[in-house]
Amino acid sequence: MRRHLQRWFRKIFRRKRRPVYRPRFEAEEPAAIEPGIIYIIGEQGYQWAIAFKCPCGCGNDVWLNLLKGHRPKWKFYMKGRRKITISPSVNRTVGCRSHFVLSDNRVHWCRIDSENDL
Ligand SMILES: [Zn+2]
Repeated sequence: MRRHLQRWFRKIFRRKRRPVYRPRFEAEEPAAIEPGIIYIIGEQGYQWAIAFKCPCGCGNDVWLNLLKGHRPKWKFYMKGRRKITISPSVNRTVGCRSHFVLSDNRVHWCRIDSENDL
């Protein structure tokens, strides 16, 4: 029983472990969001959205608006063409309610009590 529980915990933590993404620039909205990829959608210099699979494993797609004048709005920063940082944090108010920061392709989970600090 105990071993069973340990395995179960390990499974959860593995799923909660920090997934690593890689950015991909797309001119058009992708037909399907593949896991592990952050889509930066739009023409060069006029990107309007970012889309990726939620890192918690819930299977939902996360869409972030990049357009000025629409709220909420996010920004992204590239380190070369391979590393993306998204700001501010992503705080899902629907579904899994995951709250995380994406920095240099990595997911950093936010604790609930730190929500107001970000
Ligand atoms: Zn999720």
